[in-house]
Amino acid sequence: MARKQSSDISELSSPTGEGGGLALGPEFRLTKQRREVFEVLTGQRDHPTATEVFVRVKERVPGISLATVYNCLETLTQSGLVRQVNLDRAPSRYCPNLNDHAHFHCEACGTISDIDIRDAAALTEALDTAPGSVTHRTEIALRGLCPSCAAVPKALQN
Ligand SMILES: [Zn+2]
Ligand SMILES: [Zn+2]
Repeated sequence: MARKQSSDISELSSPTGEGGGLALGPEFRLTKQRREVFEVLTGQRDHPTATEVFVRVKERVPGISLATVYNCLETLTQSGLVRQVNLDRAPSRYCPNLNDHAHFHCEACGTISDIDIRDAAALTEALDTAPGSVTHRTEIALRGLCPSCAAVPKALQN
């Protein structure tokens, strides 16, 4: 049986008409609610918190509850379709970009943007991990000023 590869993600975000969800392997079905949550995440890739996702999904599915949105986000994260991003002690944010990437957090405007990692092998090489350790995933967050905030003279910030 042919398993869906992660490169098929883009077709998941297109509407597929009515009736059941998309099958994503034997144990995971993309139900309507999960699909709405997923589409909200892919539609505006600004790393929203669960509450922000809730507000956006509510416009499409008025009856949905925050608890359901949390459940959908958890399932999507566990199934590997969405990545949970934790920065400092702030609420988790959600990112549908499954490519290896780092996050840039602007301390002035609060935006979080994706940074592509050009050479993942070189990055792994640059990190002096303990011999024998096994890395499951790498999370890199950079903090500073985004280009537009960095262009504002310091006296005008805040
Ligand atoms: Zn900024
Ligand atoms: Zn991201």
